[in-house]
Amino acid sequence: MKPKLLMVEDSRFFGTLLKQKIEKKLGHRVFWASTYAMAKQLLEEERGDFFLGLLDLNLPDSKPGEVVDLVRGYKIPAVVFTAELSNDIREDIWAKNVADYVIKQGSQDIDYVISTIRRLYLNSEIKVLLVDDSRFSREHMARLLAIHRYQTLQAENGEEALAALKEDLGIQLAIVDYNMPGMNGDELTRRIRNTHRHEDLSIIGVSAQGNSLLSAKFIKSGANDFIIKPFISEEFYCRVSQNVEMLTNIKTIRELSNRDYLTNLYNRRYFFENAKELFVKAAKQDHPLALGMIDIDNFKFVNDTYGHDAGDAVLCRISNILQASFQKTDIVARFGGEEFCVLVSGPESEDARLLFEKARLRIEATELNVGDKILRITVSVGVCTHRLESLAEMISNADQLLYKAKNANKNCVICK
Ligand code: GH3
Ligand code: MG
Ligand code: MG
Repeated sequence: MKPKLLMVEDSRFFGTLLKQKIEKKLGHRVFWASTYAMAKQLLEEERGDFFLGLLDLNLPDSKPGEVVDLVRGYKIPAVVFTAELSNDIREDIWAKNVADYVIKQGSQDIDYVISTIRRLYLNSEIKVLLVDDSRFSREHMARLLAIHRYQTLQAENGEEALAALKEDLGIQLAIVDYNMPGMNGDELTRRIRNTHRHEDLSIIGVSAQGNSLLSAKFIKSGANDFIIKPFISEEFYCRVSQNVEMLTNIKTIRELSNRDYLTNLYNRRYFFENAKELFVKAAKQDHPLALGMIDIDNFKFVNDTYGHDAGDAVLCRISNILQASFQKTDIVARFGGEEFCVLVSGPESEDARLLFEKARLRIEATELNVGDKILRITVSVGVCTHRLESLAEMISNADQLLYKAKNANKNCVICK
């Protein structure tokens, strides 16, 4: 279940709208207090168990901003609503270490709140490495990032940073100071880029004011962005979240481009890119490898008899069974139409045959509901159970065996 959220808001209109949207779009349960006193009571009752507070700056029963102090006292990150924003109010709000503020004007502000909540929720999965020889600087950034729920790690020089990145492959963002004894930030960035691509790890360089050349140097060495010291927290947050969001977007696009739209199995392109890597690794370590080609029997009949949509549904069900029949480290792909290819790492030849035979049996045994009819589908399989000279040879071999299976009355596995 998603964590709970505390909303303190005295406007019935804004509160109702926001609560509805959050619950519908994000699935967090919203606890709504319309006064300071109610907020205090809710915090006590729930023992401060909220992942975020959405707080109106002005409430009828307290001084402006008092509720922010109350909620921050429980170490709950806070997003503040205000009807107006002068420089003084802005400074007062940031002084309270809030995650963000929103000026209440129209419905686009609600959309902004929704995307902020989503971001803050996801941030707890994101690890940021802070590289700076000044402990004060590191602690300052770590505090800011904690307010936005990021996980942080710290390194006080380039060597430590490289070691941390080697050990923890989950780090998605590194914030790197320029001036450090030993390796400077520019050289560190270049060394990180030997092993980590822009789209897997973002680097933000930090350089001191008065040397704008450093920013360019950072970017040329492979940084995604830079910040000039001293910075205000608002800019820091914007740059960090922009870089994190870019990584997330790239991940989504990559995932979409690797998957077949109908069945969500890996597609042909992904198969060839990654099967090659698996093949080379297996060859190097002299590990067994098996490759199976699977084709649905008489699929044209399904389409012709029950319609194309029924055919699509059958393809999806068979895909699910295939995916579940192999391990995460194997590659199960839709090769085209009603043909699938599976690359399995590690099995001796008899085990490989058994694996594919089990999958075939599972498919044969599954009753598929199509409209008011129950359908049984079978597949024919050709399996190359030995690692050959190349991946292409294994595919061609499996293809020939599949052809034999089709000629041997279908619904069988033929291996070699
Ligand atoms: P065999 O047992 O010899 O494999 O015969 P088959 O009917 O399965 O094979 P054939 O190659 O004659 O026909 C495959 C059919 O699969 C033809 C094509 O229209 C259909 N098909 C390919 N892709 C899709 C798809 O995405 N959805 C649906 N519904 N049908 C598809
Ligand atoms: Mg108010
Ligand atoms: Mg077929």
